[in-house]
Amino acid sequence: MTRIVLLGPPGAGKGTQAARLADALGVPAVSTGDIFRANIAGGTELGRTAQGYTSRGELVPDEVTNAMVASRLAEADAAAGFLLDGYPRNVAQVSELDAILARHGVRLDAAVELTADTEVVVGRLLHRATVEGREDDTEPVIRHRLEVYREQTAPIAALYAERGLLVRVDGIGEVADVTERLLTALRPAA
Ligand code: AMP
Repeated sequence: MTRIVLLGPPGAGKGTQAARLADALGVPAVSTGDIFRANIAGGTELGRTAQGYTSRGELVPDEVTNAMVASRLAEADAAAGFLLDGYPRNVAQVSELDAILARHGVRLDAAVELTADTEVVVGRLLHRATVEGREDDTEPVIRHRLEVYREQTAPIAALYAERGLLVRVDGIGEVADVTERLLTALRPAA
């Protein structure tokens, strides 16, 4: 059983690697960003609530995000494990994830931080903007998302490090090489 959270700045390749890792480990990848985008596209109430925040590169309020993650992790396919991509993103979400896992009587196996240099990630995201047309991939919003990451998300790596759960992996390189690095780094946990 494998329960992993994937940390790392926007543009570090979390989404791509989460899908590949989840495949290799046989657990679902749960991406909060993808769930928000699907709800926005589908015009649901959750989507309408999230849209203003995601388009500005702000975090969606915790009560909304936490409830969404709690309900997703209660689904049957997540019982045997999961790979969380994009959650938790601040200290309060770390506590909420602890509470969710405690209710299920399980623990996290690892928190993987995918590292990448700021200018490299900005370049990648600007390129992605031309391919995927994501609303939040404009330069000012990208810079703001990086700032939110630095201020709110980066500090949670230290919390997981204190628990002995943090694994840092260089996210720069060929997609397949980075996946190999991740699997090697996770071998003791997974
Ligand atoms: P991502 O696809 O992970 O880059 O997420 C896209 C956007 O969705 C973020 O910029 C936030 O607006 C929102 N989002 C994703 N995950 C979270 C989270 N854990 N907490 C709050 N907002 C989130």
